Amino acid sequence: MALRNIVTERDPMLRKVSRPVEKFDRRLWTLLDDMADTMYDADGCGIAGVQVGVLRRVFVVDTGEGLTEYINPEILCRSGEQDGMEGCLSSPGEYGLVVRPEKVTVRAQDRHGEWFEQEAEGLPARAICHEYDHLDGHIFKDITHHMLTEEELQKLDEE
Ligand code: ZN
Repeated sequence: MALRNIVTERDPMLRKVSRPVEKFDRRLWTLLDDMADTMYDADGCGIAGVQVGVLRRVFVVDTGEGLTEYINPEILCRSGEQDGMEGCLSSPGEYGLVVRPEKVTVRAQDRHGEWFEQEAEGLPARAICHEYDHLDGHIFKDITHHMLTEEELQKLDEE
């Protein structure tokens, strides 16, 4: 298990556009393993390469149905709408409401370079869209329509 430092939103690196992954080698596998360890350790449900300081088009997601690794992903189709709460490992303790597609179809490579297609709905779709945005230097705060206030956060804690 190896944890990496999480890049916070104060770091301008988080705004950079990531480059495609070209080599599906041991170095990539170590990165993917470390990203998963770092995500689980921080109680997150997704993390992108840039968030551990690696500007490559890669992210991992686990919203409770197991870990999926997405390399060089493309979102092929977005449909419907969901409005819900989102946070980010790069903005600890902050949450906002974000409208996302209810369903997405994503195409990506796995750690061996094999392409796969996946349909996701609800929370997994939200996580995929959130992480995908990181690959182009975007964060959820760019598109939130309401950041939760201290009061609202306290209420959530009590629930
Ligand atoms: Zn994030």
